[in-house]
Amino acid sequence: MNDPAPITDSYNRHIDYLRISLTDKCNLQCVYCMPSKGLKFFRNSEIMTDGEIVRFVRIAHKHGLRKVRFTGGEPLLRKNIVKLIASIKNIGIADVSLTTNGTMLASLAEDLKKAGLDRVNISLDTMKADRYKEITRKGDIARVWEAIKEAERVSLSPVKINMVPIRGINDDEILSFAALTFEKDYHIRFIEFMPASSDGIWRREKCVSSKEILDAISILGNLESFKFRGEGPSRNYRINGAVGVIGIISPISDHFCNSCNRLRLTSIGRIRPCLFSEEEIDIKTPMRNGASDEEVENLFLQAIKVKPERHLINENKTVSEHIKTMSKIGG
Ligand code: SAM
Ligand code: SF4
Repeated sequence: MNDPAPITDSYNRHIDYLRISLTDKCNLQCVYCMPSKGLKFFRNSEIMTDGEIVRFVRIAHKHGLRKVRFTGGEPLLRKNIVKLIASIKNIGIADVSLTTNGTMLASLAEDLKKAGLDRVNISLDTMKADRYKEITRKGDIARVWEAIKEAERVSLSPVKINMVPIRGINDDEILSFAALTFEKDYHIRFIEFMPASSDGIWRREKCVSSKEILDAISILGNLESFKFRGEGPSRNYRINGAVGVIGIISPISDHFCNSCNRLRLTSIGRIRPCLFSEEEIDIKTPMRNGASDEEVENLFLQAIKVKPERHLINENKTVSEHIKTMSKIGG
């Protein structure tokens, strides 16, 4: 069955992608994402239920939604995640994926695949066990490698690895990550460090720009541009002779707003048209107050209508305030 045509926003972008945060809780506390003193988490009663999420996706699917990514917080902390994935796939969503820190993926990967999960992105910012513990403040890197192998084994592919290079913390590992693509068909995605409320560690000078990343990697060989379906905001390359792919995501140095096709749904049920804008539309309260499908549909359409043309992160000096908490919005 063909997907319904996607809705076009005020700037002629086709909006067909929803990132859903399943929880603001996490079993790690990465230095670039969460403050050391921790966060006050939402109460369980505030979080969207499985039924509410499935209902919203069904309504959005009628307007051409074809890609759903679950994120968080750590989405695998969510009870019934396997069942939820199956329900979303049953709606007819063509591409269902998940971004995870990988610490709980190994034992779930096979069931998730059977439920209809297409792909995973696994976050890994270092290959050094001690450094991993420092960055995540508590994680065990062995569990992430296990998850990567298991994801490969059950064909949650291509396996994508998200790495956030931060100057002075892990930027000396950019080459090792890029070199993995000679042995493995992984997609290594370098994501520019974005401002988040994480003990104020964000400084513009700590953000390693996409140009610097590409310049560093070019030592390994010629970089050929690489196109594939559903590549999203990343610019992709293959190093001559490699089997894997290098993706560069540069919201800071070279924003991709003109091709942005996404909305976010926060764990407490607010549609956020742009990661960097505070504007949100509450769908959970109306749903809990008995809103009809048509009323929920109108809120979805309104969110698309108010999606800003671009973020103003580079114009605004108080930029560190912009993403209050990545884990609460859904990174
Ligand atoms: N817990 C899951 C994980 O870590 O993959 C999903 C949520 S996490 C917020 C989603 C992605 O956002 C991860 O790849 C993480 O590295 C990235 N992220 C978090 N804070 C970031 C920041 N300040 N700048 C750039 N990326 C960030
Ligand atoms: Fe948790 Fe992911 Fe944020 Fe790390 S990046 S603290 S794993 S939500």
